[in-house]
Amino acid sequence: MSLLKKYFARLAELSAINSIDVDLNRKQVVNITYLLSLIVGLLSAVVFMVNGWVIESTVHFVGAAVSLIGFALSIKGYSRTSRLLFPVACATYIVFCTFLFYGSDSHFMWLLVVLAAYSVTGFRVEGGKAQLLVCFFALVTFAFIKLFAPATTQYVSMDARLLIALCTFTASCTLIVLIAGVVVTKLRRLNKHLRNLAEVDDLTKLSNRRKVLAEAVNVFADSIINNQRCCFAILDLDHFKNINDRFGHEVGDTVLKSFARVMTNNARRGDWVGRYGGEEFVIVMPNTRIKDAVSVMEHLRIQIADLAIQIEGHVAPIHVTTSIGVAEITDDTARYEQILARADEALYMAKNNGRNRVEINVS
Ligand code: GH3
Ligand code: MG
Ligand code: MG
Repeated sequence: MSLLKKYFARLAELSAINSIDVDLNRKQVVNITYLLSLIVGLLSAVVFMVNGWVIESTVHFVGAAVSLIGFALSIKGYSRTSRLLFPVACATYIVFCTFLFYGSDSHFMWLLVVLAAYSVTGFRVEGGKAQLLVCFFALVTFAFIKLFAPATTQYVSMDARLLIALCTFTASCTLIVLIAGVVVTKLRRLNKHLRNLAEVDDLTKLSNRRKVLAEAVNVFADSIINNQRCCFAILDLDHFKNINDRFGHEVGDTVLKSFARVMTNNARRGDWVGRYGGEEFVIVMPNTRIKDAVSVMEHLRIQIADLAIQIEGHVAPIHVTTSIGVAEITDDTARYEQILARADEALYMAKNNGRNRVEINVS
């Protein structure tokens, strides 16, 4: 079942470029609609064929063929034509089947409901004219059938009418659920993408300043509430400008990425690592005393000093060092910014005391 679902999704995403693309999602809805119509058309055609109803079977085969054409048009890039074809083909098919075979008592024309679901997702929301037009077209077709189609026909018995009504209900529900699924998936992906843009630093893939500071606020509040300690560390690469000047900005970026990787690999579970800006980084350590924070930072400092960053086209690897300032929450700390400011002062001391070292601020 899940394999079928995956295959279906793959088919629906044919010629996909970017999964959060709104046009792509619209295309997905169109493709899913055609695929489902194709399946329903083929199944009905086979059922009628088995029962020896050749004309009905042929009509359903034609319906399936039109669905296939619509699908092919969509994946070939004729999105407008394929999008418009469906309401027209769907309504024609329903009118044909109701007048000729099923009769209006079969409720087959309720299949027109799928056009409403199709219209809101298959067409542009902006303006909304196309949606209204498709819904109105569905309404007019529905009224036309209700007014002029025979209630019953010689073809269908009471049982067959019941079966058609049930199949109509199932097909409508399936399509509506699939379309809603595309919309929900799209929103979920969009949400994830936006959150990523708002919280992740593009270069290092660490939390950005906004995110790490938001976490700093949370950790600070938790520490106050639970009467726990917490520590913040600010790390700054030493003489980083020299690296840019000597090897170029791109190499500088590679160094920043390697540095970020070491920080991530050495961070303890529960610690928050983020890029504060430029070549400065923040580590927020919840429920941590200064002694432990210093030993974690000392370990990290050594890891970074030992790091040999290989750069393509350069024989010798690049080495970097980092200065780190650490501060702990104190009894008179009222705002998280105070801890950050004290960590910054400690960093300043680390720079003044010769770099490549960890300093604490206990004031
Ligand atoms: P110090 O040891 O005193 O910190 O010296 P420094 O050279 O590291 O500090 P300075 O503030 O003089 O220079 C920081 C440099 O970091 C300058 C800036 O061009 C560089 N930088 C900031 N962000 C990026 C970035 O995203 N990529 C690259 N390649 N360089 C960056
Ligand atoms: Mg620096
Ligand atoms: Mg700096």
